[in-house]
Formats: sequence, C-alpha cells, structure tokens
Amino acid sequence: MAGRSFSIRRLGPRLVPHTMQARLTVGFALVVALTLFLVSMLVLNRLDDHFSETVKVDLQVRALAVRDYVGAVVQDAAADGPVVDVNNQLNPAVAAALSNPDVTQYLANRIAQADVDITIGSVVPEDGGGIRVDPAPGAMFSAPLSETPEIGQSFGLARDPIGHAQADVLSSGPFVYGLHLTLANPLTLRASTIAAATGLIAAVGIVAFGVSIIVAAALAQRFTVPLRRLTEASRALAEGDLSRRVPTSLGATGSSELVELSRQFNTMAARLEESIGIIRHDRDMSRDFLADVSHELRTPIAALRTFNELLRDRAGDDPQARAEFLESSGQQLERLDWLAQNLLELSKLDSGLVLLDLRPDDVRACVESAVEQAQPAAHRRGIELTLLLPAAPVRIRHDPPRIGQVVANLVGNALKFTPPGGRVTVEVGPHPDGASVVVSDTGVGIDPAELPRIFDRFYRGVQEAEARGSGSGLGLAIVKSIVDMHGGRVAVESTLGAGSTFTIILPRDPRTDERIADVPAAAEEAVAGELMPLPSSQRA
Ligand code: ADP
Repeated sequence: MAGRSFSIRRLGPRLVPHTMQARLTVGFALVVALTLFLVSMLVLNRLDDHFSETVKVDLQVRALAVRDYVGAVVQDAAADGPVVDVNNQLNPAVAAALSNPDVTQYLANRIAQADVDITIGSVVPEDGGGIRVDPAPGAMFSAPLSETPEIGQSFGLARDPIGHAQADVLSSGPFVYGLHLTLANPLTLRASTIAAATGLIAAVGIVAFGVSIIVAAALAQRFTVPLRRLTEASRALAEGDLSRRVPTSLGATGSSELVELSRQFNTMAARLEESIGIIRHDRDMSRDFLADVSHELRTPIAALRTFNELLRDRAGDDPQARAEFLESSGQQLERLDWLAQNLLELSKLDSGLVLLDLRPDDVRACVESAVEQAQPAAHRRGIELTLLLPAAPVRIRHDPPRIGQVVANLVGNALKFTPPGGRVTVEVGPHPDGASVVVSDTGVGIDPAELPRIFDRFYRGVQEAEARGSGSGLGLAIVKSIVDMHGGRVAVESTLGAGSTFTIILPRDPRTDERIADVPAAAEEAVAGELMPLPSSQRA
C-alpha cells in the first residue's frame, strides 16, 4: 500500500503541466470540454422530452383509430343484440370476433403499431364526472404487436416503453357498453432519432474540442513566446551579452502589457549597457593612468639615482660637477613636486567628491589675477602678454580659484610654446550662454592630428621637445575637468607655425546644466546650493 501511494504521489506532479503554454492550453481545453458536455446533455434531454410528448400525442391518435375499429367490429358481431347484457355478460359473438387473430393482428400491427389490451364491460360513472369500465367476465383481449413494417425497420422503428390508456362509452344500436383500451410499447423513431442526434453531437463535440485545443495552443503560444524571448534575453544579459534586446511591436508581443514590459526591459538593458560601458571606460582609464603615472615617476627618480651615485663616487670631489648635479637634481625634484601636485589635483577632481565653490561673481577678476601672475614669466621669455577685458562686469556663477587655475594652465602652455618675441592674448567677453575666455598665442601651433589627444592625460605633443620636457601632460586634462565641472566647454583651433587659440565657454549658472542636474537633490542641498560636487560621468 505504502509503495503504491508513494508512486502515485511521485506521478502526480509529473502529470500537472509546468509550462505556462501547457497550462493555458489544458485549462482552455477543459473549459471547452465541460461546456460542450453540458450543452450536449441539455440538448439531448430537451430532445428526449420533445419526442416523448410527440409520441404520446401520436399514441392518442392511434388509440382513437383502435377505438373506432373495435367499435365497428363489436357492432358488426353483436348485430342487433346487446354487447353486454344487464348482468354484465359479454355477447359470445363479440367475444369470438375480438378473439379472431386476424382482427387482433390487424389491430396491433397495422392500426396501433403497439401492444393493445381491450376490456369490455358495463359503464360505471365515477365521482369526478368520468367513467369506469366494469369488465365483463372473459371480456379482456390482448393484441400483442408481432411484426414491424419492413420500411420502418430500415428507418430505425423500435419499441418505445411508454403507454396510453383510455375508457370510452360506445353504443351498438340502442345498447351502450364500456370499452377500455391500453396501448403499450408502440413502435416509434424516438430511440433511433436520439441515438442519431447523440452521434452527431458527439462528432461535432470531438471536432470542436480538437479545434479548441489547436486554438488554445496557438493563443497560449502567442502569450508565451514573448515571455520566452524575455527570459532568453535576460539570460543573455546575465551571461554578458549586454547588446541583447527584445522586439517591442504589438505584432511580436501580442498584447499591450507585454509591449510595455518589453520596452521597460529594453530600457533597463540599455541603461545597464551604458553603465557597464562607463565603468569599463573608467577602469581602462584608471589602468592607463596608473601605468602613465609610474612611467612619469620613473624618469626623474632614475635621474636622481644616477646623480646620487655619481656624487657618492668620484664626481663628489669635483666642486663644478657637484654643483651641476645638485642643480639638475633640484630640477628633477621640482618636476617631481609639480607632477605630484598635478596628480593630486586631478585625482581630487576625478574622485567626484570635489565641490565647486560657486559664486555669482565677475569672472574678469580671477582671469586678471591669473594673467598678472604669469606676467613675470612672460617678461622673462620676452613675450608680450596682453589681457583684454570688457568694460562691464561679466557676472557668472563660477569657482574663481579654479577658473583662475584654468587660465593659468592655458597661459602657461601658451608662454611655453611661443618663441621669444611672440604674443599671448587673453580675452574675456560676454557670451550668449554666459562668458567666454579666449587664450591665443603666436606660438608653434599644434598638428591637426594631435588636436583630439591634447586633453588626454600625460599626452605631450611631438612639437618643441624642449618645451614639452618641462610639462607633465596633465595641464589640459585639469583644464577640461574644471570646465566640465562648470558645465562649460573647451574648443581649440590651431595652425602649425602660426599659433593656437583655446576658447572656453562658461554657462551663466552651472546648476542649470542638465548633466550636472543629475546630481542627487540631497547632495545639492547638503552643499547649500552653492557647492557643486562633480558627478562621476563628468570626469575627463
Ligand atoms: P603640459 O602640462 O605638458 O603642458 P598639457 O596637457 O598642458 O601638458 O598639454 C599637452 C600638449 O598639448 C602639450 O604637450 C603640447 O604638445 C600641446 N599644447 C598645449 N598647449 C599648447 C599651445 N598653446 N601651443 C602648442 N601646443 C600646445
């Protein structure tokens, strides 16, 4: 017993369909099957009732014919005598006539087409206005149905288990008598008609059931195919294929709910792809950055080590050589310091945690101060450094020290790459977006092929090896980071041998810049609306 119930329990879940398509199909098919069954039962039941009524009416009509025929036979046999005398005795001639097999067979097989029982006797009135036949002794005759007409057989005539009884008062001449008739098991087409209807309904039902299964499977597939596509796409995403998307047309998904789901899925996948792209890009940049940093550090460190070794050896005794090596070591240490400062600055900008101290201020002030600080260097190099300022203040919301640093870096580069006798001009002006700062020089210019790379970290051009030697390749990267933080943009135009022009456009208010507006509201509130954190997507 235990083994048996165990195997049934194990078999149960296997019989229950697990896929949505199978469940929908089975469910739909079961509903159709149940509906068909109930409708068939109802139709057959109503048909049977209808035929029963029809057969009853038909039997009554036959009973009338039987009554007339028996009345004629009785009258004929009784001649002028009574059918039943006062003692309720049946006329022997009548008894003989009704016992005649020819009469009974004709009655049963031709007229009634049913088993006929005849009872004759005196009439007894009943309370309700009806009559009862008091049977005369020996006055009960049976006429059993003994044959079925040939034509009827082929049409499915069969005995039907219903009956009809009636009592009548008949007269033969002046004599009155009672006739009680019973018709039973008549030949009818009811059974064969019901059987034919049942067969027809069963055939129609089977066809309808088959069609319903096909329709249900097709409908279920229409619903489940988009879900399967979503599953496959999710799996592909999980396995790293971030470009996978699902179709979103109504034709492909089948319903508006699935269209919406597919759209949301695609949006999610696109965001994921974008985020992963940014993360990968950041990771690659960090890797390159680390490689560049270690490379940049190694050059001055190697030089310092060489000077150190030489000074500890023989060169340490030669005062001229010592002075030269100490001078060179000093330059290398300065370079290291400068590198460290720039790296620190860039990493602070990159961290995304640096906050801009935004003030609605006149941008002319910080530019002027940066240019002033560069004047001594310009003078040393014999370069004319000019500042052109508009008469009216140019008020924009900006971080003055950082914009000053931008100008200092650009002017520093311009001075570095402009030969003595050249000119460097810094011009501040209003711009439809806010303010513009333009730094132009008459220097060596930049090769068009190099232009797209000059803002990359550690990128140093191929021109003017001497001037480049003093740089770290970080200056323009810092410029771009700061300008991006302000929601501004940098453009550069340059002609080899003729000079370069760097143009910076700063918006009136960086906080209205939609890229910066991405910063969570809480973070903005935390800095009291004035300090601006750098979103990670803004990194250079
Ligand atoms: P660095 O700190 O070494 O100057 P930058 O990032 O500031 O590095 O500049 C990168 C490169 O862009 C320089 O090495 C140089 O080739 C080019 N460059 C920048 N500014 C100028 C300029 N005004 N004239 C010519 N070349 C320039």
